[in-house]
Amino acid sequence: MSEKISFCKGNLSAVVLAELICEKLKASTVEAVCNKTAIGLAGEMRCNFPAFNGNRLNLEKHVLKSLAEKEDFDDFITYIRNPRSQTEAFIKAEVEKYIFTDQRDETVNILKKNVHDVNMLVRQALSTATQKVQTQTGDINMWLKEFSSLLKDELTLDTFSSQNFSDINNFDFLMEALKKEFAPISDEIRSLSLNKLKESRLKPDEILIDQLCNCCWVKCPFCAAVCTNTIEGHSGADHSVPFHRPSGIKGWHYSGTVEFSIDFCTTNVASDGSFYPCHDSEESVPYKLYRTAGPEYADWRITPDESKLLYWKWFVCRFQKKLEEHYNFKFQGRGEIPSEWKTISKCKK
Ligand SMILES: [Zn+2]
Ligand SMILES: [Zn+2]
Repeated sequence: MSEKISFCKGNLSAVVLAELICEKLKASTVEAVCNKTAIGLAGEMRCNFPAFNGNRLNLEKHVLKSLAEKEDFDDFITYIRNPRSQTEAFIKAEVEKYIFTDQRDETVNILKKNVHDVNMLVRQALSTATQKVQTQTGDINMWLKEFSSLLKDELTLDTFSSQNFSDINNFDFLMEALKKEFAPISDEIRSLSLNKLKESRLKPDEILIDQLCNCCWVKCPFCAAVCTNTIEGHSGADHSVPFHRPSGIKGWHYSGTVEFSIDFCTTNVASDGSFYPCHDSEESVPYKLYRTAGPEYADWRITPDESKLLYWKWFVCRFQKKLEEHYNFKFQGRGEIPSEWKTISKCKK
């Protein structure tokens, strides 16, 4: 009789423990599925999505292409002033489009696979822990340790004090109780919607921003082109960029006039001209000695060359009026736009 009572008490404890464990598993399985999916999607896009599968210059090319497609002047100005924030916005928008529109089916498949994997992990851990305890005649303490360690890479299960459950001795019963408790959790994660990814701790767009935007963002003091060095705060090497832009884009103009400067900085640095490094500078600096104009200029390697992107010539023509309004200068006099720039079409740039 007394044996029968203790057996029942043990089973009662098993049910209580199963409830406690599943309460913890409920939150961590959803989180695990979302995190795995976010990591998987970021990895997938890093390999297969053209804007994200190359180097920094490749990403910039796609950002510029998307700006040209939208032809939104304010986005251009954001990009010129704060290229990082515009690039991050681009990554966010592309990830959103990829996940929720273009590759929705693929995303659902990745999510389903992760739901399946997490379900399997729990089931597998249950039977492995149970088997081990039974073959080694272990106790509930051993079972709990084994079960948590099998899950620990993906699911966090706070440590339970096994003291209150020391009367559990029927591990098959415990396993069945847990399976029963886990069934509704399993159903719940199976019906997880893609929108749940937006609440996840890890988000695919943030993972990609971390990977892709961790580089130098220093802008050319003349034309605001962004240094293409892949190391943030790189020392020992000058900032540089293969393609500079007409400096009027950043608001450079001829001193004391409203005439924009439309020359490329690569041309200016080879010229005999000079410039005022700041709005309130009293002395001008010869372009050829631009590095002496202050810390902003000192670390830039700007070489005279002909690598002038048609893109920015197109931009100046397309947004001539907007640029004039924005900076309050004119493309006139020395800043007149050369007529051949006006023949550049969007597809040629
Ligand atoms: Zn420049
Ligand atoms: Zn740099």
